[in-house]
Amino acid sequence: MNRNGIVSDHPFRLPSYLEQSPAVAERFARIRQRPVILEVEALTRVFTTASAKHAALREVSFRVHRREFVCVIGPSGCGKSTLIRIIAGLESPTSGRVLLEGKPVTAPGSDRGMVFQGYTLFPWLTVKGNVMFGLRVAGKSDALAEREARQWIELVGLSKFENVYPHQLSGGMKQRVAIARALANSPRILIMDEPFGALDAQTRCQMQSHLLQIWRQVDVTVLFITHDLDEAIYLADRILVLGANPGHVEELIDVPVPRPRGPEQLLAPSFLATRQRLEALIHRSHAVEETVSLPDIRLTAVGDDVE
Ligand code: ADP
Ligand code: MG
Repeated sequence: MNRNGIVSDHPFRLPSYLEQSPAVAERFARIRQRPVILEVEALTRVFTTASAKHAALREVSFRVHRREFVCVIGPSGCGKSTLIRIIAGLESPTSGRVLLEGKPVTAPGSDRGMVFQGYTLFPWLTVKGNVMFGLRVAGKSDALAEREARQWIELVGLSKFENVYPHQLSGGMKQRVAIARALANSPRILIMDEPFGALDAQTRCQMQSHLLQIWRQVDVTVLFITHDLDEAIYLADRILVLGANPGHVEELIDVPVPRPRGPEQLLAPSFLATRQRLEALIHRSHAVEETVSLPDIRLTAVGDDVE
């Protein structure tokens, strides 16, 4: 947001040597030529409790192009989950609207696939059973559902585990099944709410690479929520930065890191410049909060200093 309170979706100014990178400029030109698949228009959500009204989102607007990978970041409580629950059709906005391929979203639909942080697989079904579930609900015969489920399970690299139950899988494998299950109904958009938040650091990095590979192979647009800045930069074409109280769009920035992405880019100048920019934005949106400093109390023996 600039000084006049106007939200800008212009790309931020990078050092000139990055701004002129022809590969990056060409990639964004291509993305902007694609049709808009998701339109979020002036979304406001007010929660009314017995004692008070609480605005979780205020006038949130943005657009996502087909096959784009957009990450949403922002401090805890700024309305990220509320925003995607509305896009998923699980919750209604107080005002504003969401259009998916031009059609207003009013309820959940198979055009949106969801993956959450918590493991949401059915524990009484095998990997194959979990992936087949939605296909059967959609009315496909058992034979067809099984054939299609196997393809999705292969895509996430779990063919050897199709007859295994969720409790026998690691956290990363469970989330790969969750991705296969979400993609099985051929959604137009995959909506992910901190899906790797519960994984250890190494598994998380692997999952990020797996997800990029899956996204390259499948005709799907991704909206991915995280509070990990490196994760957002590593994955996204653009990053929507939300501020808190009430949740609002701070900025929508282009990620100038070339694709294909790899771990070596974590130290590239374009990656570090983006990280610096995001930190400045988030710091600014936190600046109004009271800063807390701890009292200086000494409970150690004299001469026992560790620093
Ligand atoms: P985030 O995902 O960014 O952490 P949420 O979307 O979960 O944030 O929540 C945004 C704000 O809305 C928080 O202050 C939260 O307490 C409030 N909120 C979310 N859901 C409800 C609800 N069902 N009733 C009342 N307040 C809610
Ligand atoms: Mg949340």
